[in-house]
Amino acid sequence: MSELRDKLLYKPKHGLDRVSEAEQAEMEAYSKAYMSFLDNGKTERDCVDTAIALAEAKGFAPYVPGMDLAPGKKVYVNNRGKGIMLAVIGKQPLSEGAHIGAAHTDAPRLDLKPNPLYEDTELAYFKTHHYGGIRKYQWVTVPLELHGVVVKADGETVKITIGDKPEDPQFIINDLLPHLGREQSKKPLGEAIPSESLNILIGTAPLKDDDGSDRVKLAVLAYLHDIYGITEEDFISAELEAVPAAKARELGFDRSLIGAYGHDDRVCAYAELHALLELDVPEKTAVCIFADKEEIGSEGVSGMMSEAFDYFMESMCRTQGVDLRTCYSKSFCLSADVTAAYDPNFPEVYEKRNSAYVNYGVGLCKYTGSGGKGGASDASAEVVGYVRNLLNANGVIWQMAELGKTDAGGGGTVAKFMAQRNIDTLDAGVPVLSMHAPYETVAKLDCYMTYRCMKAIFEDAR
Ligand code: MN
Ligand code: MN
Repeated sequence: MSELRDKLLYKPKHGLDRVSEAEQAEMEAYSKAYMSFLDNGKTERDCVDTAIALAEAKGFAPYVPGMDLAPGKKVYVNNRGKGIMLAVIGKQPLSEGAHIGAAHTDAPRLDLKPNPLYEDTELAYFKTHHYGGIRKYQWVTVPLELHGVVVKADGETVKITIGDKPEDPQFIINDLLPHLGREQSKKPLGEAIPSESLNILIGTAPLKDDDGSDRVKLAVLAYLHDIYGITEEDFISAELEAVPAAKARELGFDRSLIGAYGHDDRVCAYAELHALLELDVPEKTAVCIFADKEEIGSEGVSGMMSEAFDYFMESMCRTQGVDLRTCYSKSFCLSADVTAAYDPNFPEVYEKRNSAYVNYGVGLCKYTGSGGKGGASDASAEVVGYVRNLLNANGVIWQMAELGKTDAGGGGTVAKFMAQRNIDTLDAGVPVLSMHAPYETVAKLDCYMTYRCMKAIFEDAR
């Protein structure tokens, strides 16, 4: 009877029981590299800069329309410093399609408002506007760093990164003390911390030898002017992002997990990038995308809805004398994005038979969306079958994943924007615990298997 059980029943096994010693060693090395990518990539802009440095070290060059695109050629397009597309030209022409990995490197955070700086009761603050879906109560009393750019009145762009070096100051949003929190504690979680109270404390020392008002605010401006040459009006044309200050760390006595800010979706972006950088001359042209703006709906010139991607692909197709739409119709895209990992602390929102589990490998999602699959691209059985068989043939540990119970909520990815282009697309990625929190948790095994999944797709000849 046990033979029949083995033959007929679907029983996924724990990933750590299935990896070889050699794979385990590779997984550890991969995890270290990924953690260093995270520490260098706290924002979408930082991720682009980091990707370019890694890619150029591997022989990638900026793409120039009309340039020679011989098999093995490695190029990238920097989309306004906020997104990046990299390609390794394959042996087969683009008329046979490309193998694409699409991840996003924007993450939930607190953006400074256009007029952020104010003083109240001799404390100086930045007003923020949160970006993406956050649970506001999680962002108070968490040390923050500031990353971004300011475009000054004279047009010069100043880059600001403060809080990530040990000698740097950091920033904080205060919360109420429990002693005085009786009324606040009665409020629902979603209402206890209103958006307009997410104000970052940035200074308390007043300007000396001044008897005017707002001396603390003025002292902060004087500091900013000294260091960066900026004035208050310059905040109008700035993108400054407050992000959690913690570094990526191994978690657990067994060190099987990685804690960090921004696993969603840098964990999949890095998997794609790492796999792409290892390619020599793939059969199909391999394309890796770091998209921006996914957390606010993939809008904007740097989001996946932007024609920046089509412009790049069409330009490469033209060089090869290929019609873009023919290329798309033969292409495959893995929409590489994280999914929710089953959390036994909150069993009420997960459907146990169809959840992704930590340490069970890359999670394939036939569909995302909410309710009756609303907003999902819902991949076909054929597309799921292709990936399932490819991963099995390459010894990649994978699992099937749904994002929680049907009635519990839902979410989307860039998959539907790739499918809209007539590209066969499947969602897949790393299961994450406490997704969108300032500090998210993933398992090393799942990170490594997502990389192995991308590698198998980039190297496949179909
Ligand atoms: Mn995501
Ligand atoms: Mn997300």
